[in-house]
Amino acid sequence: MVNEKCGCQITNDNPDKKIKNKPKINEIYGFGEDSQDIGELLNNNLYNECGCGLDHVIDNSYNSNDGCGCGTIDFPDLSHIKNPDKPKFLADKDFINELENYVHSLDIINIGYTLLTNDLLIKDKFIQYPYTIVLTMEMDNNIIQTPPGEDAKDLNDTAYVKLAILTTKISDYLRKNGFATEIAHPYSGIVGFTSLAQKAVLGYIGKSGLLISPELGPRQKISAIFTSIANLPINETNPHSWIIDYCEKCGKCIKACPEKALITNITCFEHEETEFIKTLCIGCSDGCTYCIEKCPFNQKEYTHIKNRFEKINEKLTKNR
Ligand code: SF4
Ligand code: SF4
Repeated sequence: MVNEKCGCQITNDNPDKKIKNKPKINEIYGFGEDSQDIGELLNNNLYNECGCGLDHVIDNSYNSNDGCGCGTIDFPDLSHIKNPDKPKFLADKDFINELENYVHSLDIINIGYTLLTNDLLIKDKFIQYPYTIVLTMEMDNNIIQTPPGEDAKDLNDTAYVKLAILTTKISDYLRKNGFATEIAHPYSGIVGFTSLAQKAVLGYIGKSGLLISPELGPRQKISAIFTSIANLPINETNPHSWIIDYCEKCGKCIKACPEKALITNITCFEHEETEFIKTLCIGCSDGCTYCIEKCPFNQKEYTHIKNRFEKINEKLTKNR
């Protein structure tokens, strides 16, 4: 059944059952005093009919190239520290090193820097600072190994909340050091997170529409912080663009999708294009991760795949 408000597949008509199964976020992550906010949010907004929260979206005009758009609700502001009245605009190398050490001391796997551009904004929202810090966090293997259903959805929701909490901690760290911040919570859907992460050179978007990174393959959640730091060490030369050529030969995510949410179209120039049909995807509503599980980058190491791909290409070139 399809939820008419948000277009998601509804696989369980009893939202109360989902609330009962919801992991106790505060107990897991020790964000005690904010747990009420999070609990209320999850109960009131996320656990609506399908659980995607889209009923609460003001503008849900998605870019279908930018993943499924899970969690497009306004996440409560859990910040403990207010933005400084007179923010600093420059950070020296030592501070960036300290920031990166702090980020890695949490469960954040990677950090990248880029400039926010209008094409990456999904919601029509004013963002004061375009200087953007992008963060990635591992999706636990439990999520991948749990078949679509209530348990998988709960695990997936928990991962989103965990990243939202860690992002807030990092934002507080920046504020404490005199920099202004605004958080793009992974639940908020205000930016195209995969495109932002690709622009920040953390990986490349594969045929599945997911970011594929050297550290985690397709198995990560992404968040961002807009900050007043105008001299972030931005490098926009992306060494991962070869992934798209690899995807052309692979297509395993398309075959793995049980809902036909990933399909191949042939263009008038006989070129194959992959389309993501978000209304068919049950990644948010049911915690489906088959496209992640079957991706070779989830099964083998990035460098191993790259080296093999380069060797095969070399042979093919010689034999021509
Ligand atoms: S495999 Fe699952 S998560 Fe991936 S596109 Fe298909 S329905 Fe969505
Ligand atoms: S499964 Fe294959 S085609 Fe799909 S994203 Fe992964 S590498 Fe690319």
